[in-house]
Amino acid sequence: MSEPSADDTSTTFGFRRIEETERQGLVNRVFASVAERYDLMNDLMSGGLHRLWKRDLIGTLNPPRGDQPFHLLDVAGGTGDISLRYARASGPNAVATLCDISPEMIAVGERRVADAGLQNRISFKEGNAEELPFADRSFDAYTIAFGIRNVTHIDKALAEAYRVLKIGGRFLCLEFSHVDVPILDRLYDFHSFEVIPRIGQAVAGDADSYRYLVESIRKFPNQEKFAALIRNAGFERVSCRNLTGGVAAIHSGWKL
Ligand code: SAM
Repeated sequence: MSEPSADDTSTTFGFRRIEETERQGLVNRVFASVAERYDLMNDLMSGGLHRLWKRDLIGTLNPPRGDQPFHLLDVAGGTGDISLRYARASGPNAVATLCDISPEMIAVGERRVADAGLQNRISFKEGNAEELPFADRSFDAYTIAFGIRNVTHIDKALAEAYRVLKIGGRFLCLEFSHVDVPILDRLYDFHSFEVIPRIGQAVAGDADSYRYLVESIRKFPNQEKFAALIRNAGFERVSCRNLTGGVAAIHSGWKL
């Protein structure tokens, strides 16, 4: 594929080149389609590994267990995994706002939070990571798990993360990343391109959505490039830790 010219307004959706303005709509269709099966599919596709990675993210965040107030913004929070884990791991005055662009994913999340009896600790807001519907310096921490690769303009989402964090606030991102362990990379390719779309077809009747999810992982910048984008947004003490040989990674940055 030739390199896009300077005035090119196209972008990628998976491996397809599309107009930039089309992308978020296509992403939204994917999540509207997978919402009801999303949690089951996560387990099947990752062999349960996403649970360990999410536990690791909450361990890294280390929210207060006492009665100090703390406000987390869980962007692209989807069906609520991160917010629920956070609420269970923290004290009574630690609250979360889950923000997601998909009403279908939020509806599943609201149901799960109600079932867990945690409505007083977790609230929901529909919104785009690129234009967050919150005031400057509102939150103590910002998490985004498996969300940022779906966003069309990563730099805008990072600038928004920086804007809504208080001084001293922490940015944490859990995302699929780039494997550079020999053999593991081959196995990972096979799993990604051969196994996951078939599971998607069998369980959710939707191979294409799952093909997009896999392809979007490969298009996402590698660990170092993503860390540079986080620094460019103004964050300091930026670090990155690989999980499972780089299948996923946690990036961290501070607004100081
Ligand atoms: N964080 C959850 C988890 O780890 O299970 C959900 C991750 S799911 C793979 C990605 C989520 O990103 C979906 O719920 C989708 O609706 C949301 N999303 C996609 N684009 C977004 C955007 N521009 N702003 C906010 N959320 C977005």
